[in-house]
Amino acid sequence: MQISVVIPCLNEEESLEPLGNKLVEVLSGILGGEGAFEIIFVDDGSTDSTAKRLAALKRVHSQVRVVRFRRNFGKAAALDAGFRVAGGRVIITMDADLQDDPEEIPRMLEALDQGYDVVSGWKSDRKDPLSKTLPSKLFNRTLAMLSGIKLHDYNCGFKAYRSEAVRELVLYGELHRYIPVLLYYRGFRITEIAVKHHPRRFGHSKYGFERYTRGLFDLLTVILLTRYATRPLHAFGGIGLILGTLGGSLLIYLTAMKLAYGVTLGDRPLLLMGILLVLVGIQLVSTGLLGEMLTRTQNEAHRPFALIDVPEEQLLALPPADVRRDAGPSAARASAPTNSALDELA
Ligand code: UDP
Ligand code: MG
Repeated sequence: MQISVVIPCLNEEESLEPLGNKLVEVLSGILGGEGAFEIIFVDDGSTDSTAKRLAALKRVHSQVRVVRFRRNFGKAAALDAGFRVAGGRVIITMDADLQDDPEEIPRMLEALDQGYDVVSGWKSDRKDPLSKTLPSKLFNRTLAMLSGIKLHDYNCGFKAYRSEAVRELVLYGELHRYIPVLLYYRGFRITEIAVKHHPRRFGHSKYGFERYTRGLFDLLTVILLTRYATRPLHAFGGIGLILGTLGGSLLIYLTAMKLAYGVTLGDRPLLLMGILLVLVGIQLVSTGLLGEMLTRTQNEAHRPFALIDVPEEQLLALPPADVRRDAGPSAARASAPTNSALDELA
């Protein structure tokens, strides 16, 4: 199996058939024959005729596989389930709503072929209402700042991976938005290419503004799990130390005033402030220490992710570990599609 396409779908009945047909057409075009690719639809507890439509699609195309949740578990869980059954050496994820264009797949494969482990789509000309694109911009900017990876679009559902990268992902909650961050900190090479984006033709979006408020906690989780995974004391201890020192200095100052000039301290707000800061500081440092103890019990968390017995050609072919930013939509479009990623992997 060369390519597995994983498609989470929640109430997307009208889109499934055109999407399935188009995918089979594009993939047969680059790979030929049966058995070279599979299309895995993950029905995330749909309540419309999605399941029926998928059954029909499966009858027409032998490459279609269906995974079904008994209730809605969310996009991250759906992707995770799809990843677990996917057998391809390259795994492609896309949305079911026809907003992502299968025609872009050859360009994604081409980028994998350059040695990258993950190719992330960038909806450079996003066809969604402003109420969605604006918060999304803010989200992407914030994440770029906090995570240290420079991408335009972290949350694009259209991505291609080498299967090694997918095997290291554990997705739940809203973590699908942070896949590039999670993989980057495991040492995978990530690049971004501009992809075509279409307006939604059928149904409606499954997410509103609340995704960003909910996503905030996941963001904190992700930062802790990546940047500070092996050194939680640095995350908490740093802030604790600053606050504690500030509070300590206030208390020393007040004590000195009392000793030198005999001023009364009981009615000084500064006293409360000093005590508060010292207490908070101690708590933060202790939290950091507890975190350190937790990571020690989880051996895996602080063992570097190693490749064992790397073949010579792979050693020579590795691009810089840095993230390459796409030059822009025009430059990205200029390159001709090829299927060499598959030749290499075959
Ligand atoms: N989706 C899903 N489970 C959910 C929410 C969404 O499988 O709980 C799927 C949905 O069917 C679509 C993809 O995730 O294929 C992206 O969702 P949507 O198009 O609503 O998001 P948007 O494009 O508006 O950001
Ligand atoms: Mg969509």
